[in-house]
Amino acid sequence: MALTFPMTPNPAPRADAERAEILSNPGFGQKFSDHMVVSIWREGSGWGDGEVKAYGPFQLDPAAAVLHYAQEIFEGMKAYRHEDGSVWTFRPEKNAARFNRSANRLALPEIDENDFVESLKALVKADESWVPAFDAGEASLYLRPFMFASEAFLGVRPSREVTYCVIASPAGAYFKGGVKPVSLWLSRDYSRAGVGGTGAAKCGGNYASSLAAQIEANERGCDQSVFLDSVEGKYVEELGGMNVFFVTKDGELVTPQLTGTILEGVTRDSILELAKDLGLTPVERRVTIEEWIEGCNDGTISEIFACGTAAVVTPVGRLVWTDGEVTSGPEGEAGPYATKIREALLAIQKGTAEDTRGWMT
Ligand code: PMP
Repeated sequence: MALTFPMTPNPAPRADAERAEILSNPGFGQKFSDHMVVSIWREGSGWGDGEVKAYGPFQLDPAAAVLHYAQEIFEGMKAYRHEDGSVWTFRPEKNAARFNRSANRLALPEIDENDFVESLKALVKADESWVPAFDAGEASLYLRPFMFASEAFLGVRPSREVTYCVIASPAGAYFKGGVKPVSLWLSRDYSRAGVGGTGAAKCGGNYASSLAAQIEANERGCDQSVFLDSVEGKYVEELGGMNVFFVTKDGELVTPQLTGTILEGVTRDSILELAKDLGLTPVERRVTIEEWIEGCNDGTISEIFACGTAAVVTPVGRLVWTDGEVTSGPEGEAGPYATKIREALLAIQKGTAEDTRGWMT
């Protein structure tokens, strides 16, 4: 039976002026809307009905399994306001399907894909005033569904109580420098995921284990890390929070193929579909780090960009490693394809281009 998400309004929502102030400069992931969705699953009885209630802290037992064994998954997507004032999300069913794949890998219960989408709608309806205006450009309301082991139990086994929650946070541009090219640090000491591990799942542990590489990247003046496969340390996988694409001088749009250790990005999938419209041939295959470096040096690769919900499309300007670096694309600005793909995606998301694929909900 479908879950319902009845609403108990927040008795003390933020004042209009305070919300307007937040929306005028939202940053990323720092401020949260007035409500959240919560539903609890218990072994034997399944999902209890959901509720939309005031945003606020959880009461969590110190023995809650998630705090010890990291049995947790999450998703990330955005709600955009269109010119007519209506609010839309981009391919939420893809996030719902990925959420359930992550749930399976982390031994968490699945949630019906319709219930997942309905929970997003319930929260966006409650906090519609938190969705930035159409003319706020790239700004959106970032939605963060997540699920964690809330049973108080220190034994190592799947939790018998699980909490599902959705929170929302207004978001401006992901990178402070706007759409300027980013620099990447090639992580050789750390891997993000191993064969048979959790790389294809969106679970908190993957991000915890990427942070040491992120610190290295920042120490080298880079924005993010590039991870290679953990077996041979030879194949490009992805960044800490984005998939990666290469435009070749022969008109191919190449991205590392899904091997089970890469997160299957919704943006990645959408770009592979859009590629043909832009006259590029989409190719999913393994890409070596040598190919990346040589391709930049000999001009075989004309542009590199990263992609994900938060950043949409971000051009890559530099790849840095212990004793060298290589640059790609035009200096200080996005390459022509990164620009075109970014604009094409944003136009669909903001409703200024026709949604011929039925991607918007
Ligand atoms: N890889 C990783 C590791 C990520 O965290 C993300 C962000 N979810 C992505 C890729 C891009 O995925 P999506 O396009 O669905 O946001």
